[in-house]
Amino acid sequence: MPAGCEIVCADMRYAYHADYFVPMPPGHPFPMAKYPLLRALLLAEGLLAESDVLEPAEAASDDLALVHTPDYLQRLEAGLLDAAEVRRIGVPWSAALWRRSRLAAQGTIMAAYAAIEDGLAANLAGGTHHAFADHGEGFCVLNDVAVAIRVLQRERRIGTALVVDLDVHQGNGTAAIFEDDPHVFTFSMHGERNYPSRKMRSRLDVGLGDGIGDEDYLALLRRHLADVLRQFTPDIVFYLAGVDPANGDRYGRLALSGEGIGRRDRHVLECCAGSGLPTVVTLAGGYAATPERTAELHAIVFREAVAIAPRRVAGHHYRYP
Ligand SMILES: [Zn+2]
Repeated sequence: MPAGCEIVCADMRYAYHADYFVPMPPGHPFPMAKYPLLRALLLAEGLLAESDVLEPAEAASDDLALVHTPDYLQRLEAGLLDAAEVRRIGVPWSAALWRRSRLAAQGTIMAAYAAIEDGLAANLAGGTHHAFADHGEGFCVLNDVAVAIRVLQRERRIGTALVVDLDVHQGNGTAAIFEDDPHVFTFSMHGERNYPSRKMRSRLDVGLGDGIGDEDYLALLRRHLADVLRQFTPDIVFYLAGVDPANGDRYGRLALSGEGIGRRDRHVLECCAGSGLPTVVTLAGGYAATPERTAELHAIVFREAVAIAPRRVAGHHYRYP
């Protein structure tokens, strides 16, 4: 617990909007309820404070255009995606979904600004890493992390960025967007035999066999993250803390325990904090048996953020020592 903090409080700014939630048809596999459930859980546990919320507006078209093609954006805006494109995204199209996608992108931008000031911040959504410049897929419409990186670069708040993508699915959209960009290092650790069947090229891809458990996973993470931080010095880290590597996930095919997820998250946060790197946490995927369980798994990274006990400064927000 941070010194002088009477209750366990993360004191971490986080982006959230009630409209992150969009109703899904009955039986739809995307656990949209996880967003409000997670927020309620974090508030109830004292892991986040109501007063630390950053409420995004919809991301500006100019910002989205730093990553996405004019044609794709125009058709999103006009609701003119064809049936095949909507099927590829996998979520029914609606004006609310378009609004939600822009809110979540802005949430990651706001969290990134907060992370630069405070050391650590989060978006209670985002990590939509299957979105490419010109199309969406795999429940992803806009690539929020890519947009945030390009916005921060345009504002000259950062030069370089590292994406640590530990969602069980390869961050194919992010990899493709930054494939030829030496200023952005994309690191993806994912199920080799899992979606997407056609992988794109990240700067570092670590493909995992089905069924891998805590110890093997953590050994690989430790080794590769250390390698990455030896060869690349980012100005900011975006951590996609997907919880679909967890045992029992409907799409994950890996076997991390809840404790293993916690050790994973702590390792990433400690490495970043130890290197003095501002870190933005985004949720990415998670498909446990129930949205409640998915929200519980997503809460772990926030518990770990409290546990590493960053020092509070300026009376309210903290910086890492
Ligand atoms: Zn995933």
